[in-house]
Amino acid sequence: MDRAIVLTYHNIGRPPKGARLPGLYVSPGAFHLQMRYLKAAGFTVVSLDGIVDFVNSQSHVNHPRRPVALTFDDGFQDFNDNAWPVLKALGFPVTVFVVTGRVGGENLWDCEYLNVRKKLLDWDAISRLKDEGVSFASHTMTHPSLTSLAGEALRGEIFGSKAALEEKSGMGVDYFCYPYGDYNEESAEMVKAAGYKAAFTTRKGCVFKGDNPYELNRISIKSTTGPLAFAYKLHLYKGTSARRPK
Ligand SMILES: [Zn+2]
Repeated sequence: MDRAIVLTYHNIGRPPKGARLPGLYVSPGAFHLQMRYLKAAGFTVVSLDGIVDFVNSQSHVNHPRRPVALTFDDGFQDFNDNAWPVLKALGFPVTVFVVTGRVGGENLWDCEYLNVRKKLLDWDAISRLKDEGVSFASHTMTHPSLTSLAGEALRGEIFGSKAALEEKSGMGVDYFCYPYGDYNEESAEMVKAAGYKAAFTTRKGCVFKGDNPYELNRISIKSTTGPLAFAYKLHLYKGTSARRPK
């Protein structure tokens, strides 16, 4: 297999009335079907470690058939309510990118723009989900656009979120996700310096062997992604090639 896929989800649920960007919500029924499809169509759902192993491996190394990883951005409460029961039943690994300075609160970074306040997982839920097998990773402290920050402020978001999540959860935090997909050379370098193994963007596309692990593509699944579009994204879509390491 010459490529791997990392899927991005935000909310699993119904959008509240008046919410902007209702596409960020995938209905629980559609999500369930999508997960069953992955299994039925012969995809192997792997952890982010599996994706990084794939990226860093030589071309002749064999990998699980059709590797796909599942990521959830922002750490919403509806992950616990609507996504995890399905994933747990299927035995699928999953990673949730949490905004460590907002855990237990709401989406203060975009609630005005989206016209909706969404509940975020609290530390008790994170601890319980971790014990049940969910992996957590960093999506900064406060969800800023990292290209608007430099120096200590940038350092606080990247190093600080890793330290906070590791301290509160008692697990190693190896992965990072850029808020809004915004990053530049300074932020990507700092993510690497902080000890993360890889970082994920919002650039649409598959992951290929030899990709820069700090600029990995993903494929976003939205409410508008019907069954045919879901199958297309998994089987045929390649998207933008990631930049190669310098
Ligand atoms: Zn986000």
